Amino acid sequence: MRLILLGPPGAGKGTQAKKLKDKFFIPQISTGDILRRAVKDNSELGIQARSFMDIGQLVPDDLVISLIKERIKKADCEEGFILDGFPRTIIQAEKLSETLNEMGLVIDTVVDLVVDAKEVISRLAGRSTCQDCGGMFHVQSCPPKVEGVCDNCGGNLAQRQDDNSETILKRLDVYQESTAPLKQFYMRQGNLKTVTARGSVEEIFSRVLEMVK
Ligand code: ADP
Ligand code: ZN
Repeated sequence: MRLILLGPPGAGKGTQAKKLKDKFFIPQISTGDILRRAVKDNSELGIQARSFMDIGQLVPDDLVISLIKERIKKADCEEGFILDGFPRTIIQAEKLSETLNEMGLVIDTVVDLVVDAKEVISRLAGRSTCQDCGGMFHVQSCPPKVEGVCDNCGGNLAQRQDDNSETILKRLDVYQESTAPLKQFYMRQGNLKTVTARGSVEEIFSRVLEMVK
């Protein structure tokens, strides 16, 4: 099963992708996570990506495209994968189709998680992430038992560098301008499914499952 999760920042792509991965035993491929890891490691990729990420801009297409091309050819992707945060531009989507074509594969379903901008802003501004296991918490909707400490593993919680109000607004602009057009792209291919991303994580997950079955 090859899936794409679409939707604005804060729509819950990462959360739903993790649940899909646990259910179907296929890898979750998050370009955001891969890039953040590269920044942390100070790798060549990280050095190139950092300045864009810090201000809420997209990292150049060629960087993420070559990263994804390599990743989806790995053995653990044979049974499928969940793309979370990629593609984000029409060029990325076209290159992805091309690469899959060469491999004799297609994307089965594109799930578009729909949520309004106001909701997104409050989700992102209150969000904190475990530095160790990636677990996510929120000051209002899902507070950790102990402030700053992960419920799952005891790791440190931190706000993402780009979850400040100025950068959040920039990311939403970039989404509208560069990523939202992908909906038309996949609608034309006939595999776009729309899911309302309001309610609890479990509610949203059951809607997502309906769409990927
Ligand atoms: P969010 O969806 O919450 O904005 P992500 O973790 O998916 O967060 O991405 C964080 C940042 O990483 C983006 O703002 C962008 O700079 C970079 N990034 C992630 N995926 C891509 C991509 N496919 N193309 C270009 N840049 C990307
Ligand atoms: Zn943790």
